[in-house]
Amino acid sequence: MIAEEQSDLARFQEFSLPTTPPATDFYLVDELLKPEEREVRDRVRAFADREIIPIAADHWERAEFPFEIIPKFRDLGLTGGPIVGYGSPGVSLVAAGLIAQELARGDSSLATFYGVHSGLAMGSVAILGSDEQRERWLPAMARLEKIGAFALTEPTHGSDSIALETSARRDGDSWVLRGKKKWIGNASFADLVVVWARDDDGNVGGFVVEKGTPGFTARVIEGKIAKRAVWQAEITLDGVRIPLENRLERARSFKDTAKVLTATRYAVAWEAIGHAMAAYEYALAYTQERKQFGKPLVSFQLVQDKLVGMLGDIVGMQLMCLRLSQLLDERKATQGMASLAKMLNCRKARRIVSDARDLLGGNGILLEHHVARHFADMEAIFTYEGTDHMQMLVVGKEICGVSAYK
Ligand SMILES: Cc1cc2nc3c(=O)[nH]c(=O)nc-3n(C[C@H](O)[C@H](O)[C@H](O)COP(=O)(O)OP(=O)(O)OC[C@H]3O[C@@H](n4cnc5c(N)ncnc54)[C@H](O)[C@@H]3O)c2cc1C
Repeated sequence: MIAEEQSDLARFQEFSLPTTPPATDFYLVDELLKPEEREVRDRVRAFADREIIPIAADHWERAEFPFEIIPKFRDLGLTGGPIVGYGSPGVSLVAAGLIAQELARGDSSLATFYGVHSGLAMGSVAILGSDEQRERWLPAMARLEKIGAFALTEPTHGSDSIALETSARRDGDSWVLRGKKKWIGNASFADLVVVWARDDDGNVGGFVVEKGTPGFTARVIEGKIAKRAVWQAEITLDGVRIPLENRLERARSFKDTAKVLTATRYAVAWEAIGHAMAAYEYALAYTQERKQFGKPLVSFQLVQDKLVGMLGDIVGMQLMCLRLSQLLDERKATQGMASLAKMLNCRKARRIVSDARDLLGGNGILLEHHVARHFADMEAIFTYEGTDHMQMLVVGKEICGVSAYK
């Protein structure tokens, strides 16, 4: 009995020994990843450290998209993420989440460029295209020879995009598209834009508009305070004529559109972790270095309170996303689970980037210290792919059995 108690005590003491985990992996979540997921994470982290972070602030300030990075993304070999075949690597959804996290940890604008192309646009073709359409478009998209965009939101329909007004009229062997879209990432230079429009029967479908099609114009939205290095466009579709075979074969109603959004929403929750990790890491390093009242900032209790709160939230975000992606991989996740993670992680990350900005004092508003960029960019993430309210209402519907928004 005494020996058993002693061994329990020993285990407890062993458990309590101080460890030195990496700054943002306090609960050793890394050990829960499969080796191939860790490899993907490390590959993207190295890419972000080498190629993204050094150029991020400058492009952000100038509101310039760094086109020269596109071939480097191709060499990374991860475009299309979880898509199996067609030149994509078919990684797990945990690995796909880690890609989003690491890109966001580097820079939000480039995470969005990749998310729109690889997730929303390629995802639409992969989930809702016929075999022929997948063969036609996905391999070139995986090689980033063709860049994709996803055009759902309209100037007058954002949260209620289900009420979209863009029309697709059948005319002989063509579809003719008319309408306006807003906030469409990559659209000003994309080779393929998946436009969501309502057909003659009132059903929503996905229509692929290829670059150079007459009647399609895209105007880059200027004056943004977030994600300045990636371009969103306002699109006008004025009698855009596309062949019948450019309608995604399995996109027959808005429920199909929602399938793509559900399949990509989890990645936004992971993006939020990337921003939180970056902001926390910068704030920790800064407060260890910076001295006031003769002591490093980290030696003050109020500063420690902030850092501990940030790290605690990061641990919660990491565990939630890991479990969500595992459930997605096992096909057990619900829409509500993805929405809850997007909602909670964005709320927490928004607080963390704000606390980090505060801990850097005046330097917190300077782009050269990076936190300012994460602080501003987190505002856009809080809104896109469904606002905080809309995610909450999706979860509410799932648990209450009644929709409070339609
Ligand atoms: C940087 C950026 C990139 C984007 N990229 C793309 C893209 O590539 N493709 C694309 O199609 N779209 C894109 N979007 C659009 C994005 O998905 C929408 O901005 C988002 O869905 C919100 O729509 P909205 O901006 O029209 O806001 P609104 O819907 O007008 O919402 C304004 C406010 O009203 C609230 N609200 C609305 N309805 C309700 C309700 N029923 N109950 C309670 N509150 C409600 C919202 O929560 C929010 O707080 C992007 C947006 C941004 C900012």
